[in-house]
Amino acid sequence: MSLRPAALAVVLAASGAAAEAPAGTPVACHGALAVKDGRIIGAHGEPVTLRGMSLFWSQWAPQYYTAETVEWLAKDWKVDVVRAAIAAEGNDSARQHFDREFGKASTVIDAAVANGLYVVVDWHAHRAYPEEAERFLTAIAEKYGHLPNLIYEDWNEPLRDGVDWSRDVKPYHVRVIGAIRAVDPDNLVIAGSPSWSQDVDVAAADPLPFTNLAYTLHYYAATHGEELRDKGDAALVEGAALLITEFGTVEATGNGPIDHAESEAWWDWAEARGIGWMAWSIGDRDETSAALKPGTPPARWSEADLTESGKLLRGKLRAAAGRNPACQQARPGLR
Ligand code: MG
Repeated sequence: MSLRPAALAVVLAASGAAAEAPAGTPVACHGALAVKDGRIIGAHGEPVTLRGMSLFWSQWAPQYYTAETVEWLAKDWKVDVVRAAIAAEGNDSARQHFDREFGKASTVIDAAVANGLYVVVDWHAHRAYPEEAERFLTAIAEKYGHLPNLIYEDWNEPLRDGVDWSRDVKPYHVRVIGAIRAVDPDNLVIAGSPSWSQDVDVAAADPLPFTNLAYTLHYYAATHGEELRDKGDAALVEGAALLITEFGTVEATGNGPIDHAESEAWWDWAEARGIGWMAWSIGDRDETSAALKPGTPPARWSEADLTESGKLLRGKLRAAAGRNPACQQARPGLR
């Protein structure tokens, strides 16, 4: 067989990187991700449905931006992916504390690599800070863009009122993702849309001009139901790939009771379409969306450390991992 040198280099880079992931882990199983025909696929062309947890805002939950937490989520919660919600809003964010927050992202990425997990680096903002986002995410790309583990999310949740996809949000993505692509031509990028990343149908109708791009769809089960799922379906019909990088089992405030029926309806919807999800959040704030009770240490959580939502999510993740044992064989439960 004959391969052009460039193609050969790509093949070697992809197989080499995948070979470095611990055997039987999600990254060893699927390698570098891509988007084809509206689906996220692995290096062997297979559809990949990633499930996992988002960490809480990095400036408010630094105790969980640790190697121990990521390892525990890999081995006990059996996640495929962890999301670092790098704070870009407020006065104590990555915009003012670049090195401190870059360090947290690096810690989470390094731990994800050690455990064969995918990792979303999420620029966690409601407003546009394109210059700062570009600086942060291109620095991540320089350091980690060669690894199959890395996924970028360049704007978590654009607001609704006065925010227009084609006028405001799309140009932001063109700028920031364009800058990422100049450094890293291939790793998956996940794009937010107006109305806190609910307007996926609007985005899909005027799509971004990038490969290996998916749109994030965010929901909170006690607030959002069929109407938002219909917007998701409209985006799929347009040919967009979707990944739920953030959702809650509770209200959009992050608080209130769990809506079990609507949570199951959302999980069924996502499962039927092969759409992956990350739950909000690994944090110990006194609110019902937090998976951990206040004061919970970074790892080795007992059942008593978990909130009702935490227990529900851990159960869902372990059940999903059990349905995909080929990618879990090196990851025996710790208890
Ligand atoms: Mg790359």
